[in-house]
Amino acid sequence: MIKYFNENLLHMSGMHKIKCDVLVVGAGPAGLSAARAAAKEGVKTLVIEEHPEIGKPVQCAEGIGEYLLQFLPFRVHRDLLRWKIEGMVFWARDMMVKREGKLWSGYTIDREKWDKWLASLAVKEGAAIKTASRLIYMDFQDDFVVKKVIVEGKDGNRLEIDPKVIIAADGVNSTVIDLLGVGESYIENVVKVKSFEVKNVRLLHPYHEQIFIGDFAPNAYAYIFPISRDRANVGVGVYKSGKKPEDAYQEFLELPIVKEQLKRAINVIEKSGDAPLGYRTKRWFYGNILLVGDAANQNLKPFVEGILPSMICGNIAGKLSADVAKGKGDTSDYPFLVNKSIRPLLRSSDKVLNILHEILRNENKDILNLLLGTNICSLRTIRKMLNERNDVSIRVSSFINNRYRLWATHQIEKLYLAYLFFWRIIRSVL
Ligand SMILES: Cc1cc2nc3c(=O)[nH]c(=O)nc-3n(C[C@H](O)[C@H](O)[C@H](O)COP(=O)(O)OP(=O)(O)OC[C@H]3O[C@@H](n4cnc5c(N)ncnc54)[C@H](O)[C@@H]3O)c2cc1C
Repeated sequence: MIKYFNENLLHMSGMHKIKCDVLVVGAGPAGLSAARAAAKEGVKTLVIEEHPEIGKPVQCAEGIGEYLLQFLPFRVHRDLLRWKIEGMVFWARDMMVKREGKLWSGYTIDREKWDKWLASLAVKEGAAIKTASRLIYMDFQDDFVVKKVIVEGKDGNRLEIDPKVIIAADGVNSTVIDLLGVGESYIENVVKVKSFEVKNVRLLHPYHEQIFIGDFAPNAYAYIFPISRDRANVGVGVYKSGKKPEDAYQEFLELPIVKEQLKRAINVIEKSGDAPLGYRTKRWFYGNILLVGDAANQNLKPFVEGILPSMICGNIAGKLSADVAKGKGDTSDYPFLVNKSIRPLLRSSDKVLNILHEILRNENKDILNLLLGTNICSLRTIRKMLNERNDVSIRVSSFINNRYRLWATHQIEKLYLAYLFFWRIIRSVL
């Protein structure tokens, strides 16, 4: 038996004890979506969140892809979609690529409002949410079956919870993974992002998300995501590099194309955070624990798009946890159920992740990254270019300036979207 808490804690005066069917750790998109789904199945569901308020602080660029909305189990009200995005614009060296179409369009949301809305859906189904409450200890057996957890409030009071199932939705720096002792190094697997919401901007592309690739954002990218005509989320990522994110951000602001757009910009609020790139654990379930969202690295690479994938996987985890609590299911079914739902997306994301690591070691990494991000050639073609020793920029520029290739890519993407649509329909029937 492995113990991660001091037995004496249980006997402290003022320690409350409660039982629940499903304990959700973390009230982000993954946890709240899971809590809604579990409570909807009629099981006693409790969410604990370390911050005092749901949706705060916002550590996000707030972009969501339109094509992913079809995978959600509920409709998103128009009011929650803050700004329409028609596509993406990519910059690398002296090259610019614009991508449009259903795979590239989306919305900017207001994350605080979004998470609060998800919380209201969970509560409506009967889930309870306890804020300002941090998971600090878990008592589990060799087979990772957790018997008790201890949660500490901001006031120092402790609560002992006896759950049947735990959903670890506690984000990129998951305490559950730390306590289980199964995870790889946190720092090795995250992109550190310095980010601000800024106003007074003069966007060259107010309806497009802009991605910037270059040495200013080592092994990652920088972005300007519009919130309105004169407001945007601006961020710079740093991955596996000694460069400080704040230095990377300052360097990015000095780029002429960025200066032109942000020279009068005023910071409104900081939205910096860490985004997962690599997997910290080999599995998505341990004993009676299901990992979901950023804790399980369930996002789409290379842009680490995690809001909607976390909600989709959260919904699956929530439903399954209710079955497990009722004695009708097994946590080991979870990967199968996730794969059944969004396998094509996660599979291509994993392939992108693999090649991304190869690209990052290559001297042509910025323009190969451009090819990867813009999706204008196959991963096989990128892999071939990886083996070339010369500067491949001339070939890349002929790729991105080739109208026929862009048109063909667009048609392939349409087919892919149709495939996703039918995949979803067929899988929901089977
Ligand atoms: C700077 C930045 C920009 C991003 N931009 C985008 C974007 O534009 N689009 C997109 O789709 N994705 C984006 N992402 C990724 C996206 O934010 C995440 O994928 C998404 O929030 C994952 O949801 P989650 O519920 O798994 O985790 P989180 O949203 O991180 O929620 C986890 C929750 O768990 C709580 N918690 C943690 N530990 C404990 C504990 N011990 N006890 C209790 N509670 C705990 C945390 O307080 C938090 O509320 C971005 C990420 C970053 C860092």
